[in-house]
Amino acid sequence: MKHRSERVQQSSSKIRVSLCASVAFQSAKFRRRLLSWYRRHGRDLPWRRTKDAYAILVSEFMLQQTQVATVIPYYHKWLRTFPDFASLARASENEVLRAWQGLGYYARARNLHAAAKTVMDRHAGDFPRGIEQMRQLPGIGKYTAHAVASFAFDQSVPIIEANTGRVLARLFNLRKSIDSHPGRRMLWQHAARLLSKSDAATFNSALLDLGALICVARKPKCDVCPVKALCRAKNPAALPVRNSRRETKQLIEMHALIVRRGRILLEQSRHRWREMWILPPLDVDCSKQSRFQGQPVYESVFPFTHHRVTLSVYRRAAPKRIAPGQRWFGSIEEVAMPLPHRRAAQSLIQTLVER
Ligand code: SF4
Repeated sequence: MKHRSERVQQSSSKIRVSLCASVAFQSAKFRRRLLSWYRRHGRDLPWRRTKDAYAILVSEFMLQQTQVATVIPYYHKWLRTFPDFASLARASENEVLRAWQGLGYYARARNLHAAAKTVMDRHAGDFPRGIEQMRQLPGIGKYTAHAVASFAFDQSVPIIEANTGRVLARLFNLRKSIDSHPGRRMLWQHAARLLSKSDAATFNSALLDLGALICVARKPKCDVCPVKALCRAKNPAALPVRNSRRETKQLIEMHALIVRRGRILLEQSRHRWREMWILPPLDVDCSKQSRFQGQPVYESVFPFTHHRVTLSVYRRAAPKRIAPGQRWFGSIEEVAMPLPHRRAAQSLIQTLVER
């Protein structure tokens, strides 16, 4: 006669088997529906027409925190300027930052540049195929490594980013915060469970598109969702759960417009836009701002992470001697400048020319 503990073990393993079978069945059904929808409605994106690891890596770096529509022209131009790891590795930092200008978050450009140099130095120009080797490269985390492994090398690995994370959190009605370690771990597990053994690239692209086109952040289009029958979300719009977001802070930054004999004075940034050229910052005590001399000749507002920054530019006379890190420029065309400062400089130069 079997002991009670043996019987309990047997019945719990039966439950596990049947649960796994049901999950496997649901996964297969999910894949069928998703892929059938993707064949009709998937996006035709330029980086989906290549298996070149370099081109796919460039697209992945650009797509971090930037919309697809913004990325497309930059992606084409970048590949014309730097067609492979070798050309990017040879470029100067100024050339790289200049080509990235307008995409923001310049750390991505610096990391891509550093990754290209490492690929040339340590891998003889061949992008490594192993996920762990990829993750040794600057700026490449789990998501980017999995994306390149899947899209360039057809490895059967899942991807979790904003779109796929949102879809899975809703599909499985995940109540844990997706910013938390357990929440992220569950997302990766769900993604791995749904993944097909073959053609994971198509599956991952389809999941991305479902998130981008149907299971969108604010008003998910559940009525036309191809996987609605399998979705467990009770209140989709309330998912995914996130840790409370940091409040947006207001910042005022004051800079100088200094021109002399048709040239403009710029300063190499040591902080936010490291190594890029900006209008020289004015050293101001914020508590005395109201008594600051004169009116700004230019003002604009731009977002930066969780800040809303007001850029105020004041006309100043040319100094007798310029400070270390400053330089006169006859033209800013080829100079790597962050977009808010380039716009300010261009607009002010134009005004001076028109006078
Ligand atoms: S049914 Fe709605 S919430 Fe569920 S996956 Fe589809 S769009 Fe997203």
